[in-house]
Amino acid sequence: MKLIFLGPPGAGKGTLAAKAVDILKVPHISTGVIFRSAIAAKSPLGLKVKAIIDSGKLVDDETTIELVKERLAQGDAQKGYILDGFPRTIPQAEALARFSSADKAVNFDIPDSAVLERLSGRRVCRKCGANYHAVFNKPKTAGVCDACGGEIYVREDDREEAIRKRLEVYREQTAPLIGFYRKKGLLLDVDASPGADEVVGNFRKALGL
Ligand code: AMP
Repeated sequence: MKLIFLGPPGAGKGTLAAKAVDILKVPHISTGVIFRSAIAAKSPLGLKVKAIIDSGKLVDDETTIELVKERLAQGDAQKGYILDGFPRTIPQAEALARFSSADKAVNFDIPDSAVLERLSGRRVCRKCGANYHAVFNKPKTAGVCDACGGEIYVREDDREEAIRKRLEVYREQTAPLIGFYRKKGLLLDVDASPGADEVVGNFRKALGL
């Protein structure tokens, strides 16, 4: 199954995608995770995108589209995928349609107040990308990832100024994708306000699993 995960930053797309991988047995492809790994590795891509990402703006369409096109050409993505954080603009969605046909776009619906609460408390593992929350989902040992033992940190773009910018960018550039996929008959709405387990239930129901 080929799925696109839509929704504002903080809707829980990454957390749900990690769970959906077990259900659907397809790879989780997150452009945000790919960019952050490139930044950590100080690769040419990482050096190019670091300042843009830290400020909460979007990386240019050309770079992002090329990255996803290459990733989707790999063997493990032939049977399906969960695309998390891509597409984020109409030109990205149009480009994607030229090289891959998604089965559904799942829209994780959540009010702004919940997004702010989640993002300001979000913690991420530097090594494997697992998500935690300072109040609602603490790791067993403070500062240490349960899954891989990596260091847990606050993303530069989860600071207040960048959160505000990312929500503004989402409204202007990404929210129009909801109408784009609805028109194509591909959109499924999932209420993302409750806790992760309930959202997984909503997701299964929406997909008829
Ligand atoms: P995320 O982890 O999905 O919140 O992405 C973190 C940051 O990576 C975003 O705020 C953007 O700066 C960049 N990014 C991720 N995906 C895309 C995309 N599809 N287009 C442009 N920039 C992206």
